[in-house]
Amino acid sequence: MDFTLSTELIELRETCRDFVQRELRPLEVEVEMAEGRLAPDKRKELEAKIKAMGLHASSLPRAIGGTELSWEAQVVLQEECGSVTNALGWLFWAPAIVLRHASPDQIERYVRPAALGTRVACYAVTEENAGSDPSKLATTAVRDGDDWVIEGEKWHVTSGDVADFVVIQCATDPEVGDGNTLFIVDLDAPGVEAIEHPKYSHHLIDGHPKYAFRKVRIPDANRFSEVGGGLSISKEWFLHERTMIAARCLGAARRLIEDATEFAQNRVQFGEPISEYQLTQQKLADSVTELWAARLMTFATARAMDEAQSDEDLKRVHSKAAMAKLYATEMANRVADRAVQIFGGRGYMRENVAERFYRELRVERIWEGSSEIQRVIIAYSLYKRGVEGLIL
Ligand SMILES: Cc1cc2nc3c(=O)[nH]c(=O)nc-3n(C[C@H](O)[C@H](O)[C@H](O)COP(=O)(O)OP(=O)(O)OC[C@H]3O[C@@H](n4cnc5c(N)ncnc54)[C@H](O)[C@@H]3O)c2cc1C
Repeated sequence: MDFTLSTELIELRETCRDFVQRELRPLEVEVEMAEGRLAPDKRKELEAKIKAMGLHASSLPRAIGGTELSWEAQVVLQEECGSVTNALGWLFWAPAIVLRHASPDQIERYVRPAALGTRVACYAVTEENAGSDPSKLATTAVRDGDDWVIEGEKWHVTSGDVADFVVIQCATDPEVGDGNTLFIVDLDAPGVEAIEHPKYSHHLIDGHPKYAFRKVRIPDANRFSEVGGGLSISKEWFLHERTMIAARCLGAARRLIEDATEFAQNRVQFGEPISEYQLTQQKLADSVTELWAARLMTFATARAMDEAQSDEDLKRVHSKAAMAKLYATEMANRVADRAVQIFGGRGYMRENVAERFYRELRVERIWEGSSEIQRVIIAYSLYKRGVEGLIL
């Protein structure tokens, strides 16, 4: 398999890398010390530059305002986004890929503005008692004439503090389809309230509030999926997000290895740079070897998606995305741990990249399906398709 990037993709990588290094990295420590806050004017300025480069909404079709990159190109872009801490890479905004399934009316009211950056979307599935198993939701949507009435609470709604609408997954009639339906809800609609802004280990530019939906009445025109078709659309979102999480972990690990190597070559103890000690060499050698493996897996997953032609191909990509997410997230966490160790006491300070990634990368093993859930998916896929069905 040839993993050489095309000239076009190398140019894309250089453009993103240059922007991340010049515009985003200098903001990291300031944003960290401000607990993740980035001045709204600065955010707008950076987003305008990203839009001018044509690198926004990369997963959405051009016809609805996106920039429609291939999955491989999105992996190239997200790898660079992942190399900066505090989620500053999220400024290359990427509304959920599944928004392309919106109705023509929803596209004009929500999706095109989200692609162009004038509206912001978030996605709410998780609840107090429904996390890894999103099929048992307590949030309900009940039909009432031409409307639906939504009642329930959603947890950890990423970007819920900056978004103005949410795609929400609700339990509907269990006898119809998968018993789940997606709706688009304006976050300023009567009955919608951000009830808590919990603090997390990381300090990202967006938060993850808890939302209550109390008898929120919305028209059927805001139903996003078929009745009973919500889970399958959410699964499509998971597939995309898992691949892009793996890509961002590649960027984080590369940055950590580069910075830790440079530090090790300059930090002298016992009369020698610590890079000369084999215990340091082991950490760096293992890290770069594992990064290479994760990179091959992630690019192979993206290419398999770009080339998928049948439902069976798509199912195989699901297993590949689970393996790439599992391996890349666990790899990046190991790399961050080793980088902290190489930096010594400095690696425990919030101004240090390794300290920030050490905290920030932890959630990659939990959200969009924890490492345990990826293993469950991989194992069942193995039983169904055999080893070659998974890795060829
Ligand atoms: C910062 C952050 C942002 C998030 N953003 C969003 C968002 O925008 N939208 C959204 O909908 N959700 C979001 N989530 C929720 C996230 O997807 C869930 O936290 C995740 O799916 C795990 O669910 P849970 O926390 O309820 O853990 P649980 O499902 O309760 O799991 C607890 C533990 O049990 C393990 N476990 C569960 N089932 C099995 C099994 N079958 N076999 C083995 N082990 C198992 C899990 O792996 C985990 O270790 C976010 C979470 C965080 C922390």
